Amino acid sequence: MKKGIIFFILILGVLTFYETPYAYADKAVIQVDYLNVRTGPGTNYDRIGKVHTGETYKIIEEKDNWLKIQRSGKDGWVAKWLTKVKADQHITDRHYSKYDYLRIRSAPNLDGKIKGYLMKGDAVEPEKSDGKWVYIQKGNTNGWVHGDYLTKEAKQKQEPEKDEKADENPSSTVKGKVKVGTAVLNVRSENSTRGRILTRIRKGETYEYIAKKDRWYQIKYSSGKTGWVAGWLVNETDNEQTNTPASKNTYVSLNYNGTNLRSGPSTNYKIVGRGHKGDQFQVLSKEGQWYKISYESKTAYVAGWIVEETNQESTATTPATSNSLKGKTIMIDAGHGGRDPGAVGRGGSYEKTLTLDTAYLLKSQLESQGAKVLMTRTSDHYISLTIRTFHSNRSNADAFISLHYNAAPLNVVARGINSYYYSSKDKALADSLQSSIVSYTGLRDRGTKKGDFHVIRENNKPSVLLELGFLSDAREEQTIKTRSYQIKASQGIVEGLTHYFN
Ligand code: ZN
Repeated sequence: MKKGIIFFILILGVLTFYETPYAYADKAVIQVDYLNVRTGPGTNYDRIGKVHTGETYKIIEEKDNWLKIQRSGKDGWVAKWLTKVKADQHITDRHYSKYDYLRIRSAPNLDGKIKGYLMKGDAVEPEKSDGKWVYIQKGNTNGWVHGDYLTKEAKQKQEPEKDEKADENPSSTVKGKVKVGTAVLNVRSENSTRGRILTRIRKGETYEYIAKKDRWYQIKYSSGKTGWVAGWLVNETDNEQTNTPASKNTYVSLNYNGTNLRSGPSTNYKIVGRGHKGDQFQVLSKEGQWYKISYESKTAYVAGWIVEETNQESTATTPATSNSLKGKTIMIDAGHGGRDPGAVGRGGSYEKTLTLDTAYLLKSQLESQGAKVLMTRTSDHYISLTIRTFHSNRSNADAFISLHYNAAPLNVVARGINSYYYSSKDKALADSLQSSIVSYTGLRDRGTKKGDFHVIRENNKPSVLLELGFLSDAREEQTIKTRSYQIKASQGIVEGLTHYFN
């Protein structure tokens, strides 16, 4: 984790250097996660990195619907149709004050003179940063505010969006069907695990849904009644396809969030829907580089270079349901996030992305074992370490699991898994998790150690910090970034917890 922070500081330094001198040029705002950066303008060029939703880069050149962007480290090419081009004076990166009377200071530290205040919901566009402090302008006042008190979410002052209102109406029209992919699935009163459980539904059952929000579906579970189910535990389906399709069927799995599904096999066709990373669709045929797929009981097309072909639907990610963790509450802490990417792999993986992906897989497995799950973050947002432990200490969690991926300095060979505890009373928890994760994943056992990390040191709950493999090792990175690895690691964590509690 410490290595990750050093990487981050280096990257932040470089970014600050690159962003300020080019404040008056066209910018590309990335619209999808894991967008490949390539050495040239086409999918036949080598990948040299990845960029993610919301990130903004200066455009250096444009060719054949590809953009050359300026990045810290190495410039490269991205698909123009997966970006939004902005001819903006500034990097448009709007933030909102989380609190009333947030101080605007003359210098990026607490000694800076107070020049004014932001009120909750006030919008600002940070122009530069210094450590955690960002420079903003509000009316005639400009100065520095602390980044921890800003958020990218505008919820404080925004009207609910139109489709959110529609979602509240249970008579909304049916948009499609979902099939339950886990043994038992909770139907909740709202689109979060904090929602009250209304009923439980079972594997293989199919329900109509009337809305989709974030990663959740609002389903009709009995006449006139609706509730929300977690999108990562169901599969979209259609009438004919309520059973597992014949083994000859081919599927594609989407590599990116926000993938456009179109009415025909080129980017000139109308967008008829959007898919998310990991969504799977049955392939009906292939036309040129495009797949014709089955989508919401109709057909649609998706570009072949942003999907992966599989021979069958991915196997269920959850082991058989039991109640081995019933009554337990587990807080999952996906390390890093937002402007803190954590470690960056040799192949371009971001620690913050892998920890969040793993957190969601772990969450569904813990829930299938009857546990209640809390998360310190559920999306790609920056959350300070203090806030993470604050949430843990005021929760009723029985264990706090911080997920990380490791990195060693260049020229240092390091592989494998570590579990850290701070208080010696948590050594048993770390030991149990370590041995079980190692046995599930087969990665090298680096053992358990006492670690002086904020999230476990300042935590009142039984807490551990897991380093689930090294991103700095090119081979290990290829393993640990896969869904199948993260599923195994999650299964190891579930078993380790079960053993610890029993
Ligand atoms: Zn980390």
